Amino acid sequence: MNEFTMTIMPPLSMTAWKVIEGFDGLVNIHDKIIRGFVIPMNWNSPVHPAFLTTDGRRRSVNRIFCIAKNYEDHAKEMGGEVDRKAPFHFQKSFDALTLGPDVRYPSHTEDLHHEVELVAVLGEGGRNLSLREAETIIFGYAVGLDFTRRDRQAEAKDKGRPWEIAKNFDDAAVMGIVTPKSESGLMDKASITLDVNGEGRQAGNINQMAFNTAELIAFLSTIQELKAGDLVFTGTPSGVGAVVRGDHLYGKIDGLKGLEIRLV
Ligand code: MN
Repeated sequence: MNEFTMTIMPPLSMTAWKVIEGFDGLVNIHDKIIRGFVIPMNWNSPVHPAFLTTDGRRRSVNRIFCIAKNYEDHAKEMGGEVDRKAPFHFQKSFDALTLGPDVRYPSHTEDLHHEVELVAVLGEGGRNLSLREAETIIFGYAVGLDFTRRDRQAEAKDKGRPWEIAKNFDDAAVMGIVTPKSESGLMDKASITLDVNGEGRQAGNINQMAFNTAELIAFLSTIQELKAGDLVFTGTPSGVGAVVRGDHLYGKIDGLKGLEIRLV
């Protein structure tokens, strides 16, 4: 399949098409051979969301990588343990991301959990990166929330299924304003906390991560090529718990902008 026929792969019945004469290739639409460029006229696929930086820039988000069980105390509270041999990760869709302040409570759960996390934002990509290279491609950091349908996750674990339904849904990933690394320096030690309705729920220090941010990025770069705009949610400290509609959440990491949201 060449690059041109790729452009007509979306469902033809859903979309109006415009043919522009002048292209000398042949395109097959509804079994008719048409000569010309084929342009979808009503293609409402979402654009990637953009994050904000402390210095007023906007940058688009590419993928959302999330690391699981990266803090010993959290792994224990989930009845598991940190795997010191390699990180464990999953992805959320880019359009599962919101900057808040309103975050929609999802369907299919009675046990939505908060997980406050350090988010590393990549400014460049690469494959098979060294730890030094992994540090270099970090653009900046933000406070993030990895919302989880904990009831669905427990079922998935029981059945040996993937965590997709537990982790990927509208507004499942929240991130705050990004502080460029040029302001924050490399973040390897900082208090991380989450308050719900003014009460402390989660508290830890990012130096408790089993794999630090550079190690996580280097690992992910061996799985697939990393790109500018990729986010890495680096795991959550202990104290995860349920939230309900109307709750106010405040996530904080020393040196970064706080993240304040409300569940609706
Ligand atoms: Mn998490």
